[in-house]
Amino acid sequence: MDKIFDIVVIGAGAGGLVIAIGAAKAGKKVLLIEKKRYGGDCTNYGCIPSKSLIAAAHAAHFLKHCDQLGIQPSPFSFEAKGALTRVRKIVSGIRSHEEPKALNALGVETLDGTASFVDKKTVLVEGQKVQGRQIVIATGSYPFIPPIEGLEGTPFLTNETIFDLDHIPQSIIFVGGGPICSEMAQAFCRLGAQVTLIESRSHLLAREEKETQEVLEDVFRKEGISLLLGERTERVSYQGRFTVEVRGKATHSLEAEALFIGVGRRPHLKELNLDAAQVKYSEDGIPVDAYGRTNIKNIWAVGDVTGPPFFTHYAENQARTVLSNLILPFLLKKSRQAIPRCTYTDPEVASIGLKEEECNPKKIAVYRVPFSEVDRSITSGRTEGFVKIITKKWSSHILGATIVGPRAGEMLMQISTAMYSKIPLRKLRGLMHPYPIESLAIRKAADKWLTETILGAFRR
Ligand SMILES: Cc1cc2nc3c(=O)[nH]c(=O)nc-3n(C[C@H](O)[C@H](O)[C@H](O)COP(=O)(O)OP(=O)(O)OC[C@H]3O[C@@H](n4cnc5c(N)ncnc54)[C@H](O)[C@@H]3O)c2cc1C
Repeated sequence: MDKIFDIVVIGAGAGGLVIAIGAAKAGKKVLLIEKKRYGGDCTNYGCIPSKSLIAAAHAAHFLKHCDQLGIQPSPFSFEAKGALTRVRKIVSGIRSHEEPKALNALGVETLDGTASFVDKKTVLVEGQKVQGRQIVIATGSYPFIPPIEGLEGTPFLTNETIFDLDHIPQSIIFVGGGPICSEMAQAFCRLGAQVTLIESRSHLLAREEKETQEVLEDVFRKEGISLLLGERTERVSYQGRFTVEVRGKATHSLEAEALFIGVGRRPHLKELNLDAAQVKYSEDGIPVDAYGRTNIKNIWAVGDVTGPPFFTHYAENQARTVLSNLILPFLLKKSRQAIPRCTYTDPEVASIGLKEEECNPKKIAVYRVPFSEVDRSITSGRTEGFVKIITKKWSSHILGATIVGPRAGEMLMQISTAMYSKIPLRKLRGLMHPYPIESLAIRKAADKWLTETILGAFRR
Protein backbone atom coordinates (compact mmCIF):
# COMPACT_ATOMS: atom_id res chain seq x y z
CA MET A 1 0.00 0.00 0.00
CA ASP A 2 1.21 3.49 -0.92
CA LYS A 3 1.35 5.22 2.44
CA ILE A 4 0.70 8.87 1.57
CA PHE A 5 -2.89 9.86 0.84
CA ASP A 6 -4.68 13.12 0.03
CA ILE A 7 -7.28 12.20 2.65
CA VAL A 8 -7.26 9.62 5.45
CA VAL A 9 -10.67 8.96 7.01
CA ILE A 10 -10.86 7.17 10.37
CA GLY A 11 -14.17 5.34 10.84
CA ALA A 12 -16.39 3.83 8.13
CA GLY A 13 -19.77 4.88 9.52
CA ALA A 14 -22.38 7.36 8.35
CA GLY A 15 -20.00 10.35 8.37
CA GLY A 16 -16.79 8.65 7.23
CA LEU A 17 -18.42 6.90 4.27
CA VAL A 18 -19.86 10.15 2.86
CA ILE A 19 -16.43 11.75 2.89
CA ALA A 20 -14.43 8.76 1.64
CA ILE A 21 -16.78 7.97 -1.26
CA GLY A 22 -17.34 11.63 -2.20
CA ALA A 23 -13.64 12.46 -2.16
CA ALA A 24 -12.72 9.38 -4.20
CA LYS A 25 -15.35 10.34 -6.79
CA ALA A 26 -13.75 13.79 -6.92
CA GLY A 27 -10.44 12.16 -7.83
CA LYS A 28 -8.71 12.33 -4.45
CA LYS A 29 -6.50 9.52 -3.18
CA VAL A 30 -8.44 8.33 -0.16
CA LEU A 31 -7.82 5.79 2.61
CA LEU A 32 -10.68 4.68 4.87
CA ILE A 33 -9.74 2.92 8.13
CA GLU A 34 -12.24 0.79 10.06
CA LYS A 35 -11.62 -1.20 13.21
CA LYS A 36 -14.85 -3.19 13.36
CA ARG A 37 -17.73 -3.43 10.91
CA TYR A 38 -17.91 -1.21 7.84
CA GLY A 39 -21.14 0.80 7.93
CA GLY A 40 -20.62 1.85 11.57
CA ASP A 41 -23.33 2.05 14.18
CA CYS A 42 -26.19 3.07 11.92
CA THR A 43 -25.96 0.08 9.59
CA ASN A 44 -24.82 -2.57 12.06
CA TYR A 45 -26.12 -1.74 15.53
CA GLY A 46 -28.39 1.29 15.19
CA CYS A 47 -30.89 2.71 12.72
CA ILE A 48 -31.07 -0.20 10.27
CA PRO A 49 -31.52 -3.16 12.64
CA SER A 50 -33.78 -1.18 14.99
CA LYS A 51 -36.09 0.03 12.22
CA SER A 52 -36.15 -3.44 10.66
CA LEU A 53 -37.23 -4.96 13.97
CA ILE A 54 -39.79 -2.18 14.46
CA ALA A 55 -41.34 -3.08 11.08
CA ALA A 56 -41.84 -6.67 12.27
CA ALA A 57 -43.21 -5.42 15.60
CA HIS A 58 -45.73 -3.24 13.75
CA ALA A 59 -46.98 -6.28 11.83
CA ALA A 60 -47.32 -8.34 15.02
CA HIS A 61 -49.18 -5.52 16.74
CA PHE A 62 -51.47 -4.99 13.80
CA LEU A 63 -52.38 -8.69 13.65
CA LYS A 64 -53.04 -8.82 17.39
CA HIS A 65 -55.22 -5.72 17.36
CA CYS A 66 -57.06 -5.88 14.04
CA ASP A 67 -60.28 -6.40 16.02
CA GLN A 68 -60.13 -2.63 16.62
CA LEU A 69 -60.75 -2.21 12.88
CA GLY A 70 -63.68 -4.59 12.91
CA ILE A 71 -61.74 -7.67 11.82
CA GLN A 72 -62.11 -10.62 14.19
CA PRO A 73 -58.95 -12.72 14.00
CA SER A 74 -59.25 -16.43 14.70
CA PRO A 75 -57.31 -17.40 17.86
CA PHE A 76 -53.82 -16.32 17.08
CA SER A 77 -50.32 -16.90 18.30
CA PHE A 78 -46.98 -16.20 16.66
CA GLU A 79 -43.32 -17.06 16.85
CA ALA A 80 -41.19 -13.96 16.22
CA LYS A 81 -37.73 -15.54 16.15
CA GLY A 82 -37.63 -15.11 12.36
CA ALA A 83 -37.94 -11.33 12.81
CA LEU A 84 -34.39 -11.30 14.23
CA THR A 85 -33.09 -13.37 11.32
CA ARG A 86 -34.73 -10.91 8.92
CA VAL A 87 -33.06 -8.00 10.74
CA ARG A 88 -29.63 -9.56 10.24
CA LYS A 89 -30.35 -10.19 6.56
CA ILE A 90 -31.29 -6.56 6.01
CA VAL A 91 -28.19 -5.36 7.86
CA SER A 92 -25.87 -7.53 5.82
CA GLY A 93 -27.62 -6.50 2.58
CA ILE A 94 -27.11 -2.81 3.31
CA ARG A 95 -23.59 -3.39 4.64
CA SER A 96 -22.57 -5.12 1.41
CA HIS A 97 -22.63 -1.67 -0.26
CA GLU A 98 -20.36 -0.28 2.45
CA GLU A 99 -17.73 -3.01 2.64
CA PRO A 100 -14.18 -2.91 1.20
CA LYS A 101 -15.11 -4.69 -2.06
CA ALA A 102 -17.78 -2.10 -2.91
CA LEU A 103 -15.67 0.80 -1.66
CA ASN A 104 -12.55 -0.30 -3.56
CA ALA A 105 -14.66 -0.40 -6.73
CA LEU A 106 -15.50 3.26 -6.11
CA GLY A 107 -11.81 4.13 -5.75
CA VAL A 108 -11.61 4.18 -1.94
CA GLU A 109 -8.66 2.27 -0.46
CA THR A 110 -9.50 0.53 2.82
CA LEU A 111 -7.51 -0.65 5.80
CA ASP A 112 -8.84 -2.81 8.65
CA GLY A 113 -7.66 -1.97 12.15
CA THR A 114 -7.67 0.58 14.93
CA ALA A 115 -6.16 3.95 14.03
CA SER A 116 -4.21 6.10 16.45
CA PHE A 117 -2.32 9.32 15.77
CA VAL A 118 1.46 9.40 15.66
CA ASP A 119 1.59 13.09 14.74
CA LYS A 120 -0.56 15.64 12.88
CA LYS A 121 -0.21 13.88 9.54
CA THR A 122 0.48 10.27 10.50
CA VAL A 123 -1.68 7.51 11.93
CA LEU A 124 -0.72 4.05 13.04
CA VAL A 125 -2.92 1.09 12.12
CA GLU A 126 -1.95 -2.35 13.41
CA GLY A 127 1.77 -1.47 13.29
CA GLN A 128 1.53 0.20 9.87
CA LYS A 129 2.07 3.97 9.46
CA VAL A 130 0.00 5.91 6.91
CA GLN A 131 0.08 9.62 6.14
CA GLY A 132 -2.73 11.94 5.13
CA ARG A 133 -2.37 15.51 3.89
CA GLN A 134 -5.83 15.87 5.41
CA ILE A 135 -7.23 13.58 8.11
CA VAL A 136 -10.90 13.18 9.06
CA ILE A 137 -11.93 11.70 12.41
CA ALA A 138 -15.32 9.98 12.11
CA THR A 139 -15.10 7.41 14.89
CA GLY A 140 -18.67 7.71 16.21
CA SER A 141 -19.78 6.81 19.72
CA TYR A 142 -20.30 3.78 21.97
CA PRO A 143 -22.90 2.88 24.61
CA PHE A 144 -22.17 4.33 28.04
CA ILE A 145 -22.35 1.66 30.73
CA PRO A 146 -23.27 3.18 34.11
CA PRO A 147 -21.49 1.99 37.24
CA ILE A 148 -24.38 -0.14 38.56
CA GLU A 149 -23.29 -2.53 41.30
CA GLY A 150 -23.02 -6.11 40.04
CA LEU A 151 -23.54 -5.22 36.36
CA GLU A 152 -19.99 -5.80 35.17
CA GLY A 153 -19.39 -9.36 34.08
CA THR A 154 -23.07 -10.17 33.50
CA PRO A 155 -24.33 -10.92 29.98
CA PHE A 156 -26.36 -7.72 29.70
CA LEU A 157 -27.31 -6.48 26.24
CA THR A 158 -26.56 -3.20 24.49
CA ASN A 159 -27.40 -2.04 20.98
CA GLU A 160 -24.23 -3.83 19.87
CA THR A 161 -25.51 -7.26 20.97
CA ILE A 162 -29.31 -7.19 21.09
CA PHE A 163 -29.74 -7.80 17.36
CA ASP A 164 -27.64 -10.98 17.63
CA LEU A 165 -30.23 -12.66 19.89
CA ASP A 166 -31.49 -15.94 18.48
CA HIS A 167 -34.94 -15.60 20.03
CA ILE A 168 -37.26 -13.01 21.56
CA PRO A 169 -36.63 -13.24 25.32
CA GLN A 170 -39.66 -14.19 27.36
CA SER A 171 -38.94 -11.18 29.60
CA ILE A 172 -36.60 -8.22 29.26
CA ILE A 173 -35.77 -5.20 31.40
CA PHE A 174 -34.69 -1.98 29.67
CA VAL A 175 -32.63 0.47 31.70
CA GLY A 176 -33.04 3.92 30.12
CA GLY A 177 -35.98 5.92 28.81
CA GLY A 178 -34.45 7.72 25.82
CA PRO A 179 -35.17 7.04 22.13
CA ILE A 180 -33.17 3.79 21.89
CA CYS A 181 -34.79 2.11 24.91
CA SER A 182 -38.25 3.44 24.06
CA GLU A 183 -38.09 2.08 20.50
CA MET A 184 -36.68 -1.28 21.54
CA ALA A 185 -38.95 -1.73 24.58
CA GLN A 186 -42.06 -1.27 22.44
CA ALA A 187 -40.73 -3.50 19.65
CA PHE A 188 -39.83 -6.38 21.99
CA CYS A 189 -43.14 -6.04 23.82
CA ARG A 190 -45.04 -6.24 20.53
CA LEU A 191 -42.99 -9.28 19.53
CA GLY A 192 -44.10 -11.12 22.64
CA ALA A 193 -41.66 -10.26 25.45
CA GLN A 194 -42.80 -9.16 28.85
CA VAL A 195 -41.15 -5.75 29.11
CA THR A 196 -40.19 -3.50 32.01
CA LEU A 197 -38.55 -0.12 31.44
CA ILE A 198 -36.70 1.66 34.24
CA GLU A 199 -35.92 5.39 33.88
CA SER A 200 -34.50 7.53 36.68
CA ARG A 201 -36.13 10.70 35.32
CA SER A 202 -39.84 11.14 35.79
CA HIS A 203 -40.67 10.77 32.07
CA LEU A 204 -39.66 8.99 28.89
CA LEU A 205 -37.88 11.00 26.16
CA ALA A 206 -36.46 13.74 28.37
CA ARG A 207 -35.83 16.09 25.43
CA GLU A 208 -39.47 16.17 24.33
CA GLU A 209 -42.46 18.25 25.44
CA LYS A 210 -44.42 17.04 28.46
CA GLU A 211 -47.56 16.35 26.42
CA THR A 212 -45.50 14.17 24.07
CA GLN A 213 -44.17 12.17 26.98
CA GLU A 214 -47.67 11.70 28.35
CA VAL A 215 -49.08 10.38 25.07
CA LEU A 216 -46.24 7.89 24.71
CA GLU A 217 -46.35 6.73 28.32
CA ASP A 218 -50.08 6.18 28.01
CA VAL A 219 -49.62 4.10 24.83
CA PHE A 220 -46.81 2.07 26.41
CA ARG A 221 -48.85 1.27 29.50
CA LYS A 222 -51.86 0.27 27.40
CA GLU A 223 -49.64 -2.08 25.39
CA GLY A 224 -48.53 -3.76 28.62
CA ILE A 225 -45.07 -2.27 29.16
CA SER A 226 -44.36 -1.85 32.85
CA LEU A 227 -42.93 1.67 33.21
CA LEU A 228 -40.88 2.40 36.32
CA LEU A 229 -40.35 6.16 35.97
CA GLY A 230 -38.42 8.17 38.54
CA GLU A 231 -36.82 4.92 39.76
CA ARG A 232 -33.13 4.06 39.95
CA THR A 233 -31.44 0.81 39.02
CA GLU A 234 -29.39 0.07 42.13
CA ARG A 235 -27.95 -3.40 41.78
CA VAL A 236 -27.85 -6.24 39.27
CA SER A 237 -27.08 -9.92 39.67
CA TYR A 238 -27.19 -12.82 37.25
CA GLN A 239 -27.71 -16.50 37.88
CA GLY A 240 -29.19 -17.82 34.67
CA ARG A 241 -31.69 -14.93 34.95
CA PHE A 242 -31.21 -11.29 35.87
CA THR A 243 -32.32 -9.88 39.20
CA VAL A 244 -32.46 -6.10 39.22
CA GLU A 245 -32.88 -4.10 42.39
CA VAL A 246 -34.72 -0.83 41.84
CA ARG A 247 -35.15 2.12 44.18
CA GLY A 248 -38.28 4.20 43.78
CA LYS A 249 -40.46 5.20 46.69
CA ALA A 250 -39.37 1.85 48.10
CA THR A 251 -36.72 -0.65 47.07
CA HIS A 252 -37.97 -3.65 45.15
CA SER A 253 -36.52 -6.24 42.84
CA LEU A 254 -37.45 -7.60 39.42
CA GLU A 255 -36.44 -10.68 37.52
CA ALA A 256 -36.05 -11.17 33.78
CA GLU A 257 -34.38 -13.35 31.20
CA ALA A 258 -32.58 -10.40 29.59
CA LEU A 259 -31.36 -6.95 30.55
CA PHE A 260 -30.69 -4.09 28.10
CA ILE A 261 -28.63 -1.04 29.05
CA GLY A 262 -29.32 2.10 27.01
CA VAL A 263 -28.59 5.15 29.13
CA GLY A 264 -26.54 7.29 26.77
CA ARG A 265 -23.61 7.40 24.39
CA ARG A 266 -20.02 8.59 24.59
CA PRO A 267 -17.78 9.80 21.72
CA HIS A 268 -15.19 7.25 20.57
CA LEU A 269 -11.91 8.95 21.47
CA LYS A 270 -9.90 6.60 23.62
CA GLU A 271 -7.81 4.75 21.06
CA LEU A 272 -7.11 7.78 18.86
CA ASN A 273 -4.13 9.12 20.84
CA LEU A 274 -5.26 12.65 20.00
CA ASP A 275 -2.55 14.22 22.18
CA ALA A 276 0.08 13.04 19.69
CA ALA A 277 -1.56 15.25 17.04
CA GLN A 278 -2.31 18.03 19.57
CA VAL A 279 -6.04 17.79 18.77
CA LYS A 280 -8.16 19.32 21.53
CA TYR A 281 -10.99 17.22 22.97
CA SER A 282 -13.05 16.67 26.08
CA GLU A 283 -15.13 13.72 27.20
CA ASP A 284 -18.06 15.35 25.35
CA GLY A 285 -16.24 15.03 22.03
CA ILE A 286 -13.92 16.85 19.64
CA PRO A 287 -14.88 20.51 19.16
CA VAL A 288 -14.88 21.72 15.55
CA ASP A 289 -15.22 25.17 14.00
CA ALA A 290 -17.87 26.35 11.55
CA TYR A 291 -16.07 24.48 8.73
CA GLY A 292 -15.82 21.18 10.59
CA ARG A 293 -12.13 21.62 11.38
CA THR A 294 -10.52 20.75 14.73
CA ASN A 295 -7.96 23.11 16.31
CA ILE A 296 -5.40 21.51 13.96
CA LYS A 297 -5.58 22.87 10.42
CA ASN A 298 -5.41 19.59 8.48
CA ILE A 299 -7.55 17.52 10.91
CA TRP A 300 -11.34 17.52 10.66
CA ALA A 301 -14.04 15.74 12.66
CA VAL A 302 -17.65 14.77 11.88
CA GLY A 303 -20.51 12.84 13.43
CA ASP A 304 -21.01 11.46 16.92
CA VAL A 305 -17.35 11.98 17.84
CA THR A 306 -17.99 15.74 17.81
CA GLY A 307 -20.62 15.31 20.56
CA PRO A 308 -24.42 15.30 20.58
CA PRO A 309 -26.89 15.24 18.96
CA PHE A 310 -26.15 11.67 17.86
CA PHE A 311 -28.02 11.28 14.58
CA THR A 312 -27.10 9.78 11.24
CA HIS A 313 -28.60 12.72 9.35
CA TYR A 314 -26.54 15.16 11.43
CA ALA A 315 -23.35 13.13 10.87
CA GLU A 316 -24.05 13.03 7.14
CA ASN A 317 -24.84 16.74 6.98
CA GLN A 318 -21.60 17.60 8.77
CA ALA A 319 -19.73 15.20 6.48
CA ARG A 320 -21.12 16.86 3.34
CA THR A 321 -19.77 20.22 4.51
CA VAL A 322 -16.34 18.80 5.31
CA LEU A 323 -16.32 16.93 1.99
CA SER A 324 -16.94 20.22 0.14
CA ASN A 325 -14.17 21.85 2.13
CA LEU A 326 -11.77 19.07 1.22
CA ILE A 327 -12.44 19.12 -2.51
CA LEU A 328 -13.43 22.71 -3.35
CA PRO A 329 -11.02 25.65 -3.52
CA PHE A 330 -13.11 27.65 -1.02
CA LEU A 331 -14.54 26.89 2.43
CA LEU A 332 -18.22 26.35 3.25
CA LYS A 333 -19.70 26.79 6.72
CA LYS A 334 -21.72 24.08 8.45
CA SER A 335 -25.46 24.39 8.06
CA ARG A 336 -27.17 26.30 10.86
CA GLN A 337 -30.58 24.83 10.09
CA ALA A 338 -32.60 23.38 12.96
CA ILE A 339 -31.93 19.65 13.33
CA PRO A 340 -35.05 17.50 13.00
CA ARG A 341 -35.34 14.32 15.07
CA CYS A 342 -37.64 11.36 15.13
CA THR A 343 -38.12 8.56 17.62
CA TYR A 344 -39.61 5.59 15.79
CA THR A 345 -42.00 4.41 18.45
CA ASP A 346 -45.64 3.96 17.49
CA PRO A 347 -46.87 6.68 17.43
CA GLU A 348 -43.69 8.28 16.17
CA VAL A 349 -42.40 11.35 17.95
CA ALA A 350 -40.87 13.92 15.62
CA SER A 351 -39.72 17.36 16.58
CA ILE A 352 -37.62 20.31 15.50
CA GLY A 353 -36.47 23.62 16.91
CA LEU A 354 -37.61 25.11 20.18
CA LYS A 355 -39.94 23.62 22.78
CA GLU A 356 -42.72 25.79 24.21
CA GLU A 357 -41.00 26.00 27.60
CA GLU A 358 -37.86 27.39 25.92
CA CYS A 359 -39.74 30.41 24.51
CA ASN A 360 -40.91 33.70 25.96
CA PRO A 361 -44.70 33.10 26.23
CA LYS A 362 -45.45 36.76 25.42
CA LYS A 363 -43.70 36.58 22.07
CA ILE A 364 -44.99 33.31 20.69
CA ALA A 365 -48.18 31.66 19.49
CA VAL A 366 -48.77 27.94 19.92
CA TYR A 367 -51.02 26.11 17.47
CA ARG A 368 -52.12 22.63 18.48
CA VAL A 369 -54.23 20.26 16.43
CA PRO A 370 -55.07 16.85 17.91
CA PHE A 371 -55.36 14.01 15.40
CA SER A 372 -58.83 13.37 16.82
CA GLU A 373 -59.83 16.39 14.64
CA VAL A 374 -58.22 15.01 11.48
CA ASP A 375 -60.42 12.87 9.21
CA ARG A 376 -57.70 10.52 8.02
CA SER A 377 -56.62 9.75 11.58
CA ILE A 378 -60.24 9.04 12.52
CA THR A 379 -60.65 6.66 9.57
CA SER A 380 -57.46 4.84 10.54
CA GLY A 381 -58.39 4.67 14.21
CA ARG A 382 -55.18 6.50 15.10
CA THR A 383 -56.22 9.62 16.97
CA GLU A 384 -53.87 9.52 19.94
CA GLY A 385 -51.33 12.15 18.89
CA PHE A 386 -51.18 15.79 17.83
CA VAL A 387 -49.39 18.46 15.81
CA LYS A 388 -48.05 21.40 17.75
CA ILE A 389 -46.37 24.33 16.04
CA ILE A 390 -44.73 27.24 17.84
CA THR A 391 -44.29 30.49 15.96
CA LYS A 392 -43.33 34.09 16.56
CA LYS A 393 -46.62 35.68 17.52
CA TRP A 394 -47.48 38.00 14.63
CA SER A 395 -45.14 37.04 11.81
CA SER A 396 -45.89 33.31 12.33
CA HIS A 397 -42.21 32.59 11.67
CA ILE A 398 -41.84 28.95 12.81
CA LEU A 399 -39.66 28.42 15.88
CA GLY A 400 -40.36 24.79 16.59
CA ALA A 401 -42.77 21.91 16.19
CA THR A 402 -43.66 18.52 17.57
CA ILE A 403 -45.70 15.85 15.86
CA VAL A 404 -46.82 12.70 17.63
CA GLY A 405 -48.49 10.34 15.18
CA PRO A 406 -48.03 7.20 13.09
CA ARG A 407 -45.97 8.92 10.35
CA ALA A 408 -44.76 11.93 12.32
CA GLY A 409 -41.23 11.79 10.90
CA GLU A 410 -42.50 12.11 7.32
CA MET A 411 -44.96 14.86 8.26
CA LEU A 412 -42.35 16.86 10.11
CA MET A 413 -40.50 17.44 6.85
CA GLN A 414 -43.19 19.95 5.78
CA ILE A 415 -42.36 22.00 8.84
CA SER A 416 -38.66 21.41 8.40
CA THR A 417 -38.85 22.62 4.78
CA ALA A 418 -40.81 25.70 5.84
CA MET A 419 -38.24 26.53 8.52
CA TYR A 420 -35.31 25.91 6.16
CA SER A 421 -36.87 28.10 3.48
CA LYS A 422 -38.06 30.70 6.00
CA ILE A 423 -41.70 30.22 5.01
CA PRO A 424 -43.95 31.48 7.83
CA LEU A 425 -46.78 29.25 9.01
CA ARG A 426 -49.43 31.66 7.69
CA LYS A 427 -48.32 30.90 4.11
CA LEU A 428 -49.14 27.21 4.58
CA ARG A 429 -52.82 28.18 4.90
CA GLY A 430 -53.00 28.40 1.13
CA LEU A 431 -51.21 25.12 0.47
CA MET A 432 -53.48 22.43 -1.01
CA HIS A 433 -53.19 18.99 0.57
CA PRO A 434 -54.74 15.91 -0.98
CA TYR A 435 -57.78 15.08 1.15
CA PRO A 436 -57.79 13.30 3.58
CA ILE A 437 -54.06 12.98 4.43
CA GLU A 438 -52.85 13.33 8.00
CA SER A 439 -50.73 16.36 7.05
CA LEU A 440 -53.94 18.37 6.84
CA ALA A 441 -53.32 18.83 10.56
CA ILE A 442 -50.54 21.23 9.57
CA ARG A 443 -52.90 23.31 7.43
CA LYS A 444 -55.41 23.32 10.26
CA ALA A 445 -52.65 24.65 12.54
CA ALA A 446 -51.88 27.34 9.94
CA ASP A 447 -55.58 28.27 9.79
CA LYS A 448 -55.41 28.94 13.52
CA TRP A 449 -52.96 31.78 12.88
CA LEU A 450 -55.85 33.67 11.25
CA THR A 451 -58.65 32.55 13.53
CA GLU A 452 -56.83 32.67 16.86
CA THR A 453 -54.05 35.23 16.54
CA ILE A 454 -55.28 37.78 13.99
CA LEU A 455 -59.06 37.64 14.39
CA GLY A 456 -58.59 36.92 18.11
CA ALA A 457 -56.73 40.23 18.48
CA PHE A 458 -59.71 42.12 16.98
CA ARG A 459 -62.16 40.29 19.21
CA ARG A 460 -60.31 41.32 22.36
C1 LIG B 1 -29.93 1.62 18.55
C2 LIG B 1 -29.65 2.88 17.80
C3 LIG B 1 -30.59 3.37 16.93
C4 LIG B 1 -30.34 4.53 16.22
N1 LIG B 1 -31.30 5.00 15.38
C5 LIG B 1 -31.10 6.14 14.71
C6 LIG B 1 -32.07 6.64 13.83
O1 LIG B 1 -33.13 6.05 13.65
N2 LIG B 1 -31.83 7.80 13.17
C7 LIG B 1 -30.65 8.48 13.34
O2 LIG B 1 -30.47 9.54 12.73
N3 LIG B 1 -29.68 8.02 14.17
C8 LIG B 1 -29.88 6.87 14.85
N4 LIG B 1 -28.89 6.39 15.66
C9 LIG B 1 -27.63 7.15 15.77
C10 LIG B 1 -26.69 6.86 14.59
O3 LIG B 1 -26.46 5.48 14.50
C11 LIG B 1 -25.37 7.60 14.78
O4 LIG B 1 -25.62 8.95 15.06
C12 LIG B 1 -24.50 7.51 13.52
O5 LIG B 1 -24.17 6.17 13.24
C13 LIG B 1 -23.23 8.34 13.71
O6 LIG B 1 -22.41 8.20 12.59
P1 LIG B 1 -20.82 8.37 12.75
O7 LIG B 1 -20.26 8.31 11.37
O8 LIG B 1 -20.51 9.53 13.58
O9 LIG B 1 -20.37 7.09 13.60
P2 LIG B 1 -20.54 5.54 13.31
O10 LIG B 1 -21.59 5.27 12.31
O11 LIG B 1 -20.68 4.87 14.61
O12 LIG B 1 -19.16 5.11 12.68
C14 LIG B 1 -17.96 5.21 13.40
C15 LIG B 1 -17.04 4.06 12.97
O13 LIG B 1 -15.72 4.35 13.43
C16 LIG B 1 -15.11 3.13 13.83
N5 LIG B 1 -13.99 3.46 14.72
C17 LIG B 1 -14.07 3.97 15.98
N6 LIG B 1 -12.84 4.20 16.46
C18 LIG B 1 -11.97 3.82 15.48
C19 LIG B 1 -10.55 3.83 15.38
N7 LIG B 1 -9.77 4.31 16.35
N8 LIG B 1 -9.98 3.33 14.24
C20 LIG B 1 -10.76 2.86 13.23
N9 LIG B 1 -12.11 2.86 13.27
C21 LIG B 1 -12.70 3.34 14.39
C22 LIG B 1 -16.26 2.39 14.50
O14 LIG B 1 -15.99 1.00 14.56
C23 LIG B 1 -17.43 2.73 13.59
O15 LIG B 1 -17.60 1.77 12.58
C24 LIG B 1 -29.11 5.22 16.38
C25 LIG B 1 -28.14 4.72 17.25
C26 LIG B 1 -28.39 3.57 17.95
C27 LIG B 1 -27.33 3.06 18.87
